Amino acid sequence: MLRLFSHHDRFEVYRIFNMLDDAGIPCFVKNELIQGAIGDIPPQDSEPEVWLHDVQWEDKAKQLISEFNREQQSMQSENKSPWICVNCDENNEPSFNVCWMCQASR
Ligand SMILES: [Zn+2]
Repeated sequence: MLRLFSHHDRFEVYRIFNMLDDAGIPCFVKNELIQGAIGDIPPQDSEPEVWLHDVQWEDKAKQLISEFNREQQSMQSENKSPWICVNCDENNEPSFNVCWMCQASR
């Protein structure tokens, strides 16, 4: 077995885990927060971790993680906040380039 990834943010660890799991790579999460530990700051060595069942997956998994992180960064660099049309004051989704209501451009 091999420790592949660790992060203080459990959400981040699960994102990696789910992504690998979707790709069919056998892995699991260790050091999940212990029930009842709310309010306690977990020590550094109990960060949640993603482990591979088999080291043969290491290269593939690392490649997927770096691709995944690149995708995340490029998504974050785009404007992700909703916007309000200057023409009709309608709220628009971040992905819209023109107002869904009046077709005015962003
Ligand atoms: Zn509009």
